[in-house]
Amino acid sequence: MNVSEFKKNGHMIIDWIANYFENIEKYPVKSKSSPGEVISKLPARAPEKAEKFEKIFGDFEKIIMPGITHWQSPSFFAYFPANNSFASILGELLASALGAQCMSWATSPAAAELEEAVMKQLAKIIGLPESFCGVIEDTASTSTLCAALSAREKYSDYAINSEGFGPENKFTAYCSGQAHSSIEKAVKIAGIGKNRLRLIGCDKNYAMIPSEFESAVKKDIKAGYRPVFAVAAIGTTGSTAIDPLREIGKICKKYKIWLHVDAAYAGSALVLPEMRYMIDGIEYADSFVFNPHKWLFTNFDCSAYFVRDKGALIKTFEILPEYLKTSEKSAVNNYRDWGIQLGRRFRSLKLWFVLRSFGVSGLRRIIKKHIELAQYFAEMLAAEKGFEIMAPHPLSVVCFRYKPHKNLSREKTDAFNADLLEKLNSSGKLYLSHTRLCGDFVIRMAIGQTGTEKKHVKSALNMIINTAKNMSK
Ligand SMILES: *Cc1c(COP(=O)(O)O)cnc(C)c1O
Repeated sequence: MNVSEFKKNGHMIIDWIANYFENIEKYPVKSKSSPGEVISKLPARAPEKAEKFEKIFGDFEKIIMPGITHWQSPSFFAYFPANNSFASILGELLASALGAQCMSWATSPAAAELEEAVMKQLAKIIGLPESFCGVIEDTASTSTLCAALSAREKYSDYAINSEGFGPENKFTAYCSGQAHSSIEKAVKIAGIGKNRLRLIGCDKNYAMIPSEFESAVKKDIKAGYRPVFAVAAIGTTGSTAIDPLREIGKICKKYKIWLHVDAAYAGSALVLPEMRYMIDGIEYADSFVFNPHKWLFTNFDCSAYFVRDKGALIKTFEILPEYLKTSEKSAVNNYRDWGIQLGRRFRSLKLWFVLRSFGVSGLRRIIKKHIELAQYFAEMLAAEKGFEIMAPHPLSVVCFRYKPHKNLSREKTDAFNADLLEKLNSSGKLYLSHTRLCGDFVIRMAIGQTGTEKKHVKSALNMIINTAKNMSK
């Protein structure tokens, strides 16, 4: 492809993207593709000879698009959102054009300094204390792994990095039974061990019970373990429960445990001052993660990881082979030393575009709207006979189920709701997902796409109510 072809194809693709967003509601939200359908249409070998862009793009439309689930649809209500925006798409496009490798300051000074500036702005936007500084990681899973590794190093006096685990490193870690699977993954990879991750009990709101956390810590210490790592979930993935951060923080301080706060989805809501109660006690935290790639209009990937003591982070990850030595070391941030990867994408560019083109007031307005829509949804559904709201819904996710008859067994109620979910999703008109709370199958309605308006929530409500009632006739 030469420059003039690039111009022609590039303009065409921008038009295509604009049309896609204009027509996105015409696609089935959840792909109707069956397993193997896409791959059966793809050749086993790459072409020997160059192919025309028109042909490649034609196959994108014919083969790839039918196998896409439309995450940006305003009727996408599954999992958590992974929303984007035009500003973010354009920032990403420029980042791919520059193709900069942002491993150190010297390999692109603007990338390092923009990342530093944007993360400072972001910390202020969500009300983190001044003492936190941030770095962009690919995902919350990686951020949490960085936290687990930093905890391991800090509390082994950085010995495990050099000597490996010894018999004296009998570490334990803690999170609630509702916390995200990425924590289990992190403690496995960090060598703490999955069996030494204590799952602490939750109250009726699915939030961690601090007294049970402290008992578990005491018991472990008595048994000769060293508790090093705890995660407080602000907005659990199942039901968006909020762990009591201050009380957990006091316990962590008392026993010298690294406290990591996982607010992957809910962190975006902190743009609203009235939601900052969720991080009351944040001064106890050693690290904090949230994903602008979930609910802050920044396309995947972009995870904001903040630490209170960047020294512990850098001491855990720093490497300095001869070929990476540069003269500016102390004055600037070399982000390769702030995480696992060496090579890094220029992610701050799209985030900068988003923050500026929405403005903080724009971010607040849309996040607030999503939360209000969820409250409206819950209120309307609760007023319908047979529907039950299954957990508190302080954010933009509502967990519910339908119980056609009062005395229906748990198994039958679960099966009914699984059927209901399947029917709704196969309509192509909307997409919801499920979880289990206290063993019960519940449907999750997660509102957070950039283009979601009240009319989309209303039509989802009508579909859910009518489908459930028709099925139970
Ligand atoms: C989504 C989510 C994660 C994982 O996020 P990734 O960026 O996909 O790794 C972790 N914790 C919570 C609470 C989440 O909701």
